Amino acid sequence: MLSDTHTHTYYSADSKTDPEENIKKAVENGQKYIVLTDHFDHGLKCGKSDYNFDSLDRADEIQRLKDIYASKITVLCGIETGQQPDEAVRKANDDKLAEYGFDYIIGSTHLIHGLDPYEGVYFEGKTMKEAYTELLRELIYNALLYDNYDSVGHFDYTSRYAPYENRTLRYRDFPDLLDAFFKIIISKGKALEFNTKTATRVEPDPDVWKRYKELGGELVTVGSDAHKPELVGLEFRRFGSFLKSCGFDYAFIYRGRKPFAEKTDQ
Ligand SMILES: [Zn+2]
Ligand SMILES: [Zn+2]
Repeated sequence: MLSDTHTHTYYSADSKTDPEENIKKAVENGQKYIVLTDHFDHGLKCGKSDYNFDSLDRADEIQRLKDIYASKITVLCGIETGQQPDEAVRKANDDKLAEYGFDYIIGSTHLIHGLDPYEGVYFEGKTMKEAYTELLRELIYNALLYDNYDSVGHFDYTSRYAPYENRTLRYRDFPDLLDAFFKIIISKGKALEFNTKTATRVEPDPDVWKRYKELGGELVTVGSDAHKPELVGLEFRRFGSFLKSCGFDYAFIYRGRKPFAEKTDQ
């Protein structure tokens, strides 16, 4: 099974998972690598807790687990950073990333003009076209402004929580915005994440992925975005085949910020 490049633990404000439980589940799945990618999100809170963690304490715990499980799986130390165009957020991300040499950095857009689509209020008074257009524009701004990350997390984030009947982000509905977004990340050498948490809720549009490939997109990462251990590697075989059918023979994992490939049909 493909390795999981996006998982959360109790170092994320919205997860209670012991990192060892994620690792055990990945071993059980037969995955060769697991990347722990806890949240750092400047200005976003979960209740009263900040989306932040002590980089060195966390790295120590991950190193300890990495050693214990070395014969079974390779544990990698990543991070999911929340991106917003504001200068204060960009600076906060730069400072956070300077604290430790992470193996892998996901850049995710969770807040759009101060609202998280996770909260239903984001969609209030918006048509599907408007709600998705706002996300895609914000992704384009962030793709232009940010460089210190490896893969764009859940670019179809609004699909996950939208109240509309057919929530799939379809290529034919947003060809210009998707093309613009893909061209920027491809030219900057960034990867695009296939997020199975979204894909298990809303069927992905193959045309989106085929177009990314057609424009020269090679780098795809696959992540469950699990906040609970049972969701690690969720439906990776099915979605590995989906990616293969869209023309991607390989998905990528990052170690020391360098990508290496795994076959999508394993
Ligand atoms: Zn996220
Ligand atoms: Zn996540």
